[in-house]
Amino acid sequence: MRLLSFTRLTFHLAFALRCTAQAGEQVVLHGSESDSACHNACKALKSSLPQQTYHSLTPDSVPAPDLVSSFFAIQQQEVIPACWLTPTSAQDVSIAINIIREYGCHFAVKSGGHAPSARMSSAEGGVTIDMRLFDSVEILEGGVGGREGARIGTGGRWGEVYKKLELFGKTVVGGRDRRVGVGGLMLGGGISFISRRNGWAIDNILNYEVILANGTIAQISQSTAPDLYWAFRGGGNNFGIVTNFDLATYPLTQAWGGYNFFLLSDMSSRLSTLNLPPPAPFTLTTKLLSLLGNLINDIACKLGYCTTISDWLNAYLSTLEKEQYDLDAQLIGALAYVPKLDIWTALANNIHTKPTINPPVFSAFRKLPHVYSSNRLANFSTFHKELNDWNEGGFRQIWGALTIKPSFPLMQELLSIFLEESNSIKHIKDIIPSTVFQAITTDEISHMSSNGGNCLGLLPSDAPLIISSFTIGYSGTPGGREDEAVSAVGRRVRERWEKMAKEMGLWHPYVYINYADVEQDVFAGYGEENRERLRQIQRKWDPEGVFGERLQPGGFKV
Ligand SMILES: Cc1cc2nc3c(=O)[nH]c(=O)nc-3n(C[C@H](O)[C@H](O)[C@H](O)COP(=O)(O)OP(=O)(O)OC[C@H]3O[C@@H](n4cnc5c(N)ncnc54)[C@H](O)[C@@H]3O)c2cc1C
Repeated sequence: MRLLSFTRLTFHLAFALRCTAQAGEQVVLHGSESDSACHNACKALKSSLPQQTYHSLTPDSVPAPDLVSSFFAIQQQEVIPACWLTPTSAQDVSIAINIIREYGCHFAVKSGGHAPSARMSSAEGGVTIDMRLFDSVEILEGGVGGREGARIGTGGRWGEVYKKLELFGKTVVGGRDRRVGVGGLMLGGGISFISRRNGWAIDNILNYEVILANGTIAQISQSTAPDLYWAFRGGGNNFGIVTNFDLATYPLTQAWGGYNFFLLSDMSSRLSTLNLPPPAPFTLTTKLLSLLGNLINDIACKLGYCTTISDWLNAYLSTLEKEQYDLDAQLIGALAYVPKLDIWTALANNIHTKPTINPPVFSAFRKLPHVYSSNRLANFSTFHKELNDWNEGGFRQIWGALTIKPSFPLMQELLSIFLEESNSIKHIKDIIPSTVFQAITTDEISHMSSNGGNCLGLLPSDAPLIISSFTIGYSGTPGGREDEAVSAVGRRVRERWEKMAKEMGLWHPYVYINYADVEQDVFAGYGEENRERLRQIQRKWDPEGVFGERLQPGGFKV
């Protein structure tokens, strides 16, 4: 259990005071035009949708205790809206959009709240629309467009979605972590355990139920509005508020796999070759723990339990070789810092989506000495829970993403850059830097042209590609030294990674929106032609810019 720090307590008190004042309707927020527009919009919402609008988060009025804490990143939790809305129907969302547009108040839409940066799905001084009550899962009898399907509410969490589908012996292409929300993942891409065989989530959506900028409730599919359907397949929050997704379903199977952890024998020699700044101000306790951690690592290596970064990287790349390649495999390879012991470990989350014990595709990993492995046959829900157990929320976050051609020398360089930059922030409380490799295969991309195609701009001839991403979790005060230091590291890693990949001729412009930092221009990576088409579609369907920068500034804008 983490204790609420004094700073966070102060923040929550300020938050409660401000919200309570709003509840009394006696305060005009800040006095600026936008604040009074939002104050009036919130009053109108309260009058039209009294049960769904909350000015205040005082204990009596909290609609759900985790309304704030359900955001994954602390930076999002700290954003204070003028009011919250928790709509229960498409009609509610339509009413809300009409009011918001009329008053010119800015807003944000939240499904599972796992976007990492402030204001991506929360509106400072505006209206935060929390879609949590759209959490139904319904099998569509008779299917959709000749395919078996299910209607999934945007506000559900993947763990609950899969549980409900399991009762019918079905699954869908969705998130791998049970706590992640449906909406955000489905609007950006959606890499799942079954993506090699069935494509990304956006290529499995047969129909969207959407609230458009003029408040219309519309069904958007390839047959009803092909341009908007194409734009929704990867275009993020720029085109409307989705209430439900009709998704293709697949038969549920058992799967094999789990987490594998590797200690590294070459980390200290590798670190010594890097251009590392002077040691950070460690305390006596952290220094002692560091000595202990490194001692444990050394002893484990002497006993033969360690591998090297090179062997781990080679094992990762072997899974993409023709002879090993497997349509039912999914692999997340990561290098992560363990702050308590001041050591780096490598891991492989390897999943085979058929009940095949020790599938050959992962044989290179099995040959590496490891210190922990949870590989076993299990239901998918076990693997979704396991992924969640290793990805705790409730920290500040800085992320970044890059796409490259698979290359041992380049991936070595990217790891070195990440190690070098992370070293300067190792002393920050609760720091967990980790860097992740995930492949995009020809099979995945081949689904991207189905049913009119998606807007990501990826071609089968580009594959195989690797998404190289990083996340840095940490604790600190809002806008404090920690934010400054970690943001600077994140920026440098992104810049140096891109420069290195370009210099080696292995850079690809695509940036996965769901792993990107808010500073990254993800739509540039979709290609100029696709971006221009997205802008035209936005102008056609949303001429007043309701879902663009003007009223919905958070998230990635076309
Ligand atoms: C622990 C963890 C595990 C992850 N695992 C995976 C994974 O396995 N595969 C993968 O592909 N990605 C994964 N991701 C990335 C994830 O897809 C993104 O973070 C995604 O944005 C989360 O969706 P959400 O609904 O929880 O987020 P939110 O923060 O609620 O939304 C994200 C964005 O989508 C917009 N949005 C949300 N709902 C709607 C809606 N109904 N209508 C219009 N706009 C909307 C928001 O405004 C915001 O801009 C993971 C992230 C984390 C933190």
